[in-house]
Amino acid sequence: MRLISYFGSRGELRTGAVAGEHVVDLTSQVAALPLPASASRRGLAPAPGSMLHLLCAGPEGLATLRHRVTMPTASSRDRNLLLGNVRLAAPVPRPGKIIGIGRNYADHAKETGTPPLERPRIFLKASSSASGHRATVRRPAAVSKFDLEAELGVVIGEFASNVPRDQAKRVIAGYTVLNDLSAREFQFDVTPPQTSFAKSLDDFCPMGPWLVTADEIPDPQALEIFSFLNGEQMQHGNTADMLFPVDRLIEYISGHMTLEPGDVIATGTPAGSGAFRKPPIWLKAGDRIRIEISGIGTLEHDIGEPA
Ligand code: ZN
Repeated sequence: MRLISYFGSRGELRTGAVAGEHVVDLTSQVAALPLPASASRRGLAPAPGSMLHLLCAGPEGLATLRHRVTMPTASSRDRNLLLGNVRLAAPVPRPGKIIGIGRNYADHAKETGTPPLERPRIFLKASSSASGHRATVRRPAAVSKFDLEAELGVVIGEFASNVPRDQAKRVIAGYTVLNDLSAREFQFDVTPPQTSFAKSLDDFCPMGPWLVTADEIPDPQALEIFSFLNGEQMQHGNTADMLFPVDRLIEYISGHMTLEPGDVIATGTPAGSGAFRKPPIWLKAGDRIRIEISGIGTLEHDIGEPA
């Protein structure tokens, strides 16, 4: 299933599934799903019918919905929205946390000129940096070293701590395409580096267009990943080249903090982003970015005039 969060006619957030060119509105069905006691125990209070509600309902919730998503018939077609006509939010509009992984592809680690890592390098992106497919991300006026990073986003679907590597797949709800936008002056030009700040400015985490449920991605370590800037290829990698694969990341992170439904892991980027080119390439107003991951989809967004 391809699941989306989108804005309804009154600007309200809704939850749906993509069926061909149509959107099947699942908001009321999601609102009827029971929430586990663990959600309120941990202070999670998802809006009824939201993607977070669906993810909190766990694999049972997804299974309940699955048989309700059918291709619209000729008679029902008029009642369904066209995907091209809706404004998408990030699949999880406000993840509880977005966990970033630094230097996780061999070719990228090499271009940074730093020694190989023994453990995953963790930073956080603020939840308020989430934005959606076709968003216009404004370059903050104070930021001149504005850069992109194509990444596989892993969306968590369970409360999970101390998950052994061989059980890690069970806590993944699905995958999305993610751009880990970064203000490099805060990451590289100051001591100590302010990596989380550099990657947390407003709208600096475009995600989407949808969440592809995990059953459709049998091997997350065999996906082609690309970024394009104004149609020119910037990055091309394969998730097979991750130094710490997704199951190892889940084992490591969940050994230190609880992963919760709706959390997103930004799993790192292959070589070729703007900062590591000679001369560097910085994003500017009017630029169009396209990020593709095989089997998942294509995320597009623009860069806007400075805010
Ligand atoms: Zn990154």
